[in-house]
Amino acid sequence: MFTFTPAENYLDNKTILITGASDGIGKTTALTLARFGANLILLGRDQEKLEGVYDEIEAISPGKAVIHPMDFANASFEDYKTLASSLDEHFPQLDGLIHNAALLGARTPIEFYPEQEWDRLMQVNVNAPFYLTKVLLPALTRSDDARVLFISSSVGRQGRAHWGGYAVSKFALEGLMQTLADEVCNTTSIKINSLNPGGTRTAMRRAAYPAEDPSTQPAADELMPVYHYLFSAQGGHIHGQALNARDFDPSEFQAK
Ligand code: NDP
Repeated sequence: MFTFTPAENYLDNKTILITGASDGIGKTTALTLARFGANLILLGRDQEKLEGVYDEIEAISPGKAVIHPMDFANASFEDYKTLASSLDEHFPQLDGLIHNAALLGARTPIEFYPEQEWDRLMQVNVNAPFYLTKVLLPALTRSDDARVLFISSSVGRQGRAHWGGYAVSKFALEGLMQTLADEVCNTTSIKINSLNPGGTRTAMRRAAYPAEDPSTQPAADELMPVYHYLFSAQGGHIHGQALNARDFDPSEFQAK
């Protein structure tokens, strides 16, 4: 695993929104970035779980987190616009956006994939990141050094039998990342990448591999040096890339 020690409080005065912050990798990311000074906007569908994360952040750095319960499966574009307007009032700019929330869905051949589940998966894994990006781009543009990270998967880069809607949704996310990265590269300073965390010990991994011994997978904490790097000044040269946490090597990308 990649190692990197960021400067203390390197995220002071930075505001970062994380989706799916109530559990798994998203929760660990929120707690980790809070320790380095970030203001955090935590999105997730379960208010109680979000409040638990909020309380943990309060204990680390009081007054740094806000929560916005939102179920992406049911949210309309109007809900995203309302969210953006309410954030505008409290946070003049957005310095980071991490599209982390996702559903695993059925793992079954395409021929038998349930249509309604397909629609729900696309709503949560693809439409939500699109809507959120669309409404938050003005706030990201107001930052002079914003970062957007799409959390992807190995099956979003190479299709795999029975991974159905999940794999297809991650391919879509990669397409959104590449298209957006190409659009903003000459007009803004926003840096946009996707990151495949690789197998990580979470509820989603347990659901995908029920027979696996969880202790064989790294904990989400072990991914955090990669996140730190991508949100630090050092990571500012990486843009438009499909990254892997497991073999992350920033020297592959030319520093500007
Ligand atoms: P978890 O299932 O542990 O957490 C997913 C998060 O997304 C939870 O906070 C969950 O909320 C939230 N979420 C799910 N559905 C919705 C919804 N409808 N509206 C709002 N929020 C929702 O997953 P991981 O932490 O394992 O995964 C995080 C990211 O990493 C995902 O994008 C996943 O695809 C990716 N990934 C994970 C791998 C792994 O091995 N763990 C491997 C490769 C990629 P709630 O707490 O209510 O469930």
